[in-house]
Amino acid sequence: AALYKIDGWGAPYFSVNTSGNISVRPHGAETLPHQEIDLLKIVKKVSDPKSVGGLGLQLPLIVRLPDVLKNRLESLQSAFDYAIQSQGYEAHYQGVYPVKCNQDRFVVEDIVRFGTPFRFGLEAGSKPELLLAMSCLCKGSPDALLVCNGFKDAEYISLALFARKLSLNTVIVLEQEEEIDLVIDLSTKLSVKPVIGVRAKLRTKHSGHFGSTSGEKGKFGLTTTQILRVVGKLKQAGMLDCLQLLHFHIGSQIPSTTLLADGVGEASQIYCELTRLGARMQVVDIGGGLGIDYDGSKSAESDVSVAYSLEEYAAAVVRTVAGVCDRKSVKHPVICSESGRAIVSHHSVLIFEAMSVSVPSAPAMNTFLMQCFFDRFKDDARAAYLNLATADARGDYDTCWFYADKLKERCLEDFKEGTICIEQLAAVDGFCELVSELIGAPDPVRTYHVNLSVFTSIPDFWGIGQLFPIVPIHRLDQRPGVRGVLSDLTCDSDGKIEKFIGGESSLPLHELEGCGGSGGDGGRYLLGMFLGGAYEEALGGVHNLFGGPSVVQVLQSDGPHSFAVTRAMPGPTCADVLRVMQHEPELMFETLKHRALEYTGQNNHDNGDGINEDGHGIASTIARSFHNMPYLFSLSC
Ligand code: PLP
Repeated sequence: AALYKIDGWGAPYFSVNTSGNISVRPHGAETLPHQEIDLLKIVKKVSDPKSVGGLGLQLPLIVRLPDVLKNRLESLQSAFDYAIQSQGYEAHYQGVYPVKCNQDRFVVEDIVRFGTPFRFGLEAGSKPELLLAMSCLCKGSPDALLVCNGFKDAEYISLALFARKLSLNTVIVLEQEEEIDLVIDLSTKLSVKPVIGVRAKLRTKHSGHFGSTSGEKGKFGLTTTQILRVVGKLKQAGMLDCLQLLHFHIGSQIPSTTLLADGVGEASQIYCELTRLGARMQVVDIGGGLGIDYDGSKSAESDVSVAYSLEEYAAAVVRTVAGVCDRKSVKHPVICSESGRAIVSHHSVLIFEAMSVSVPSAPAMNTFLMQCFFDRFKDDARAAYLNLATADARGDYDTCWFYADKLKERCLEDFKEGTICIEQLAAVDGFCELVSELIGAPDPVRTYHVNLSVFTSIPDFWGIGQLFPIVPIHRLDQRPGVRGVLSDLTCDSDGKIEKFIGGESSLPLHELEGCGGSGGDGGRYLLGMFLGGAYEEALGGVHNLFGGPSVVQVLQSDGPHSFAVTRAMPGPTCADVLRVMQHEPELMFETLKHRALEYTGQNNHDNGDGINEDGHGIASTIARSFHNMPYLFSLSC
């Protein structure tokens, strides 16, 4: 566990159990020992060919844990409740979940259900997100907020106004100044009194990966001048009482409470000013930004960590809003946050399998054979070889390294010129590897080929270099003997993970075993990518036409096993992903079947090995491929 810093990024949800497997603690710190769930057992159960309607799910696999989602939501609420109570704050906290972080139907429905007792709402940033938020919130608390952010046209605004008619507590947040004209116009036409919010473009700037939306040059929000013009227009229309919410968002992963308090302080001043100008302000919406400690370092210096807990975050927000409002004698507002990453990151784990490993090839050449080629080398290659031999005799290993590199370099030039052949080039490579082995070069880093697409499942790694904890989910009672990098299935050199939490350029890994390995898992080597529940599924693409993973939903259960699989969905098939790019799998199959049957007419059916190679056999193999997932089938038993 220490090697992978699991206690740092995983607590209180993930730990290592006595079998050496990753264990999920579904209720966080309140989990009782018998409630812990062994991740390996879940994978074995759902990939068993006898399970899931006799199919068995294929990897990669997302394991969704609604209990963890519930715990995150309740922990966020209680952190604010505690800060409010202990600081004597005179209003409440009422959060919303930004659905863009993970729009999966069951995730959103669960959040609404779990959050109903404390009026938890949703935030939408586009028309389809608004439609899904509207329908989900029909089953939620009537007081839950429905915050409408993002670029808006007349249709978006009309939908939001209809949502108010349907008694959903909808707030239209102005992201651009022009939106106010549409809101005034459409609300008059549709006879709806809107509740309006305004997104302020704060001067407080959050630097780093996730802060590009902040500062004066940020993409979103209204400047102070624009806010004043909006106030003027609303006043003129007799609608200033509709302006009730001030929103800002200084970026995701806010690194410290100092920066947070800076932004909240600036926004609270604007809130108080809007009250002074006559708006009937009720809510300060502090946006997202509540961070996750992906590397377990609890440090503001790391791009993928934060230097505060949930409790410290909530305390800083409440203290800052109260401080500003008290100084201006303004009634304390309801505090809303749009925390997405912090709510959904922990609840899903991506599991994938290492299919094979490339170990740098064993020396293919011995010194004797090398001597045979020696005559064919050009002068400088010969010199490098002789210098290498002399340095070796002296035991001067640094010099050996130097001349081994030189020898390889010279021989490559000779190869490019055509003076040595491919066997000779391979012999030189083999010789140099032998030298490095003999002089004690560090164990080379291996490449583990994983049944995964980085572009589909970890797009933020590819897009912005974000690091996630990646750990074998079993064999953690055995010390990993080698180090490796991960290479995915796509034909793209970017589909490689060579950077890991803690700034490591390789990961400690176990040797792959044959079938029937000691872990009792059929020799499979399974890895988990943790804390990827936010953004990764929504952003993932179909590079190389790999679709999303299979998904299972797992609840803690007090039955004979500590868990119950409550939902299982195989990932998209080859036909499904082809349809995404407008292909028509049925027509494609007909064309290929026609060709296959023509082939039968032209050839003898049996290829002599007893393998039925007639057109019908070919067609049924092709048909099966359309219906299977694009990933590799496990090579082990
Ligand atoms: N609200 C707005 C307006 C956002 O742009 C975002 C994401 O960047 C969020 C909320 C969610 O932020 P986070 O995931 O950091 O909580």
